[in-house]
Amino acid sequence: MPTIALDAADRRDLLARFLRYVRIDTQSDENSTSSPSTEKQKDLARVLVEELRQMGCADAAADEWGYVFATVPSNLPANHPAVGKVPVIGLVAHMDTYHGTFGAGVKPQVIEGYKGGDIALSGDQRQVIRVSDNPNLPKCVGHTIVTSDGTTLLGADDKAGIAEIMAAVAWLRKHPEFAHGPVRVGFTTDEEVGRGTEHFDVAAFGAAYAYTLDGSDIAEIEDETFCADSALVVIEGHDVHPGYAKGKLVNAVRVAAAIVERLPREFLPETTDLRQPYLHPYDVRGDVTRVEIKLLVRAFTDDELREREDSLKAVVSDVQGAFPGARISVEVKESYRNMAYKIAEDPKVLEYAFEAVRRLGLEPVRRAIRGGTDGSRLSFMGLLTPNIWAGGQSFHSVQEWVSLDWMVKASEVTLHLLQVWVERSAA
Ligand SMILES: [Zn+2]
Repeated sequence: MPTIALDAADRRDLLARFLRYVRIDTQSDENSTSSPSTEKQKDLARVLVEELRQMGCADAAADEWGYVFATVPSNLPANHPAVGKVPVIGLVAHMDTYHGTFGAGVKPQVIEGYKGGDIALSGDQRQVIRVSDNPNLPKCVGHTIVTSDGTTLLGADDKAGIAEIMAAVAWLRKHPEFAHGPVRVGFTTDEEVGRGTEHFDVAAFGAAYAYTLDGSDIAEIEDETFCADSALVVIEGHDVHPGYAKGKLVNAVRVAAAIVERLPREFLPETTDLRQPYLHPYDVRGDVTRVEIKLLVRAFTDDELREREDSLKAVVSDVQGAFPGARISVEVKESYRNMAYKIAEDPKVLEYAFEAVRRLGLEPVRRAIRGGTDGSRLSFMGLLTPNIWAGGQSFHSVQEWVSLDWMVKASEVTLHLLQVWVERSAA
């Protein structure tokens, strides 16, 4: 078996892929109702299908939703003890980029042999990637660093993940002597707008277990996401000519203000971190007659999620008492659940990832994501999908950056993972 390591040529190939992909604008649009939310995501899908076919993935194709699926068939010799036992492993990343920061016309800047210190971005002198804001920068001295020019995001979230998977597929093709089981590659659309798995056909994908490459720091494996709900508070007031409103007017704007004001301060996104839950009013619109307040509810357990929702309902009923003329309703909708609940049912998917990290000579770091991933929904759709680092830092911002060296390690860890699966299935 060959040593699992990307050589200098593989490394150049990985970088070239990444630079190629980030130049393609794939921003998703949270206000769109079509799928994909933006047609331009298919521009990258087409490139990836073509490249996968060139690498021998004969079935590579994009579907009408823009998802790219492809197979790297098993090359286990017929007498190998893992034949028929090693499951199909999926490698997943998302093609879209964040909608809130400019994503068109990305001009990636490559710093070879980063010497340390702040990084000034050439396209906007106000934009400096500072060591003081980026504790990981000093860990990347000597690395190849890629940034944008400061006028757009970079798109390492998640084109780093895509490039890493593509480089792993290229490596497998270059090393036919490396025995691996069947691999499925899946590139999704619209992850950033929370619709990354809306049309994901788990059965057609056909993997038994999968991994997203959509995380941040080297050696991090994430098996927990938030439990997430959204809440909508609708306030109906009563409008009267304000000159003649005494004792009659019920102002929905004031009711809304009272509700927002009374939300517990210790459970807001700006006052919480680590494993603490929050309730986040993020959109208020309306007038005297009617106001809608949209809120996000986030926690790592169902119980804590319920507590936050109960606290919202308690505030509403309190305010209702103070404004008896208003009609206030609260509607809670489920978004996604912590995938740790599902992964606990079959933890080897996680254990093998830890083992793969150790084989790189690193100590795996288990992390919980204060957000969701495609993997959290996939895990509840029957496909357990923990998350592996992809390397991107300060994502969703024009100061986004990534270390090529961490990307190389992410590519290598997926190859180790395939080997662990073969070994453990043969045992
Ligand atoms: Zn992402």
